[in-house]
Amino acid sequence: MKVLIAEDDIISKKILEKHIKEWGYEVFTTDNGKKGWNLINKHDIQLAILDWMMPGMNGVDLCKKIRTEYQKKMSRFIYIIMVTGRDLQEDIIAGISAGANDYMTKPFNLLELQVRLQNGRRIVELEENCLRLATYDSLTNLWNRSKIFEFYEEELSCGQKQNQPTGIIMIDIDHFKNINDSYGHYTGDIVLKETARLLKQALRNYDKIGRYGGDELFIVLPKCDQEEIKVIGERLRSTISKCHFDIQTPPLKITISLGGVSSDVFPNASKEELIQACDRALYQAKKLGRNRLVSFDSSLPDQHKSVGKGKNI
Ligand code: GH3
Ligand code: MG
Repeated sequence: MKVLIAEDDIISKKILEKHIKEWGYEVFTTDNGKKGWNLINKHDIQLAILDWMMPGMNGVDLCKKIRTEYQKKMSRFIYIIMVTGRDLQEDIIAGISAGANDYMTKPFNLLELQVRLQNGRRIVELEENCLRLATYDSLTNLWNRSKIFEFYEEELSCGQKQNQPTGIIMIDIDHFKNINDSYGHYTGDIVLKETARLLKQALRNYDKIGRYGGDELFIVLPKCDQEEIKVIGERLRSTISKCHFDIQTPPLKITISLGGVSSDVFPNASKEELIQACDRALYQAKKLGRNRLVSFDSSLPDQHKSVGKGKNI
């Protein structure tokens, strides 16, 4: 478990570092609140011991920043222990109001810190478990439907404010039912899982991919215009079409169909309109023979208006 010690007193910092390492934690240290913030963002810190008075940013402000900015954006929890010489009741109230989980006043007993850290560790594990269950799809290990839509809404509104395009891609595995029918659901699950892994690997690290449902996946691409959608979509398509799934002899091969759209072709589109446009493009990719990307343009037919045609096979 990763622990940050942000403490500007050199001796206290050294003592804390030595003991906390001995107790089996991975330790990162700093004497400056701003640098502490950078370490948190760089190293996925899980537990933070923050001094109140520090150069750069004080512990209370750092605590607030973690709760308001980091936790929401990164969907991660950090257990915070404020360690300080300030022991007035109003200080304790201010520290806990800023978001600290625990509070210790100096000088403190090391054994007490050890058990408080153990307590923190338990809470971090519980929080991480809850967060994982609430946000991940257990089969593919991608974001689940509600989380990927949350990212989508945030990204779209942020892009609109900054005048930047946001791209989305919907992916559907071609003839996936045949895999289940021919090789069984267990093999189908492995193919789905491996496809998800390969797609995630082929994306930029700030793109987000989630499971829309069944064999459909949904990707959010920040700052991505329609031309980039075509390049990224084609890369994803070719990654999957080249892959051999060694779970059968001879190895299985699959293809995917993709529909893509960027908000730059629809500058003031609502989130629903953009998804409908993406859906139309995916429908067209299936209709044109699968194993392809279609990027949206307004001349594409709208399947919902072509009554009675049903799903194209
Ligand atoms: P198309 O090319 O038109 O997309 O054909 P398809 O067979 O992929 O589409 P269809 O919608 O007919 O079937 C999707 C299949 O995906 C049916 C469903 O049983 C299967 N499926 C959905 N979720 C899972 C899953 O978690 N595991 C497995 N193994 N199969 C799943
Ligand atoms: Mg399918």
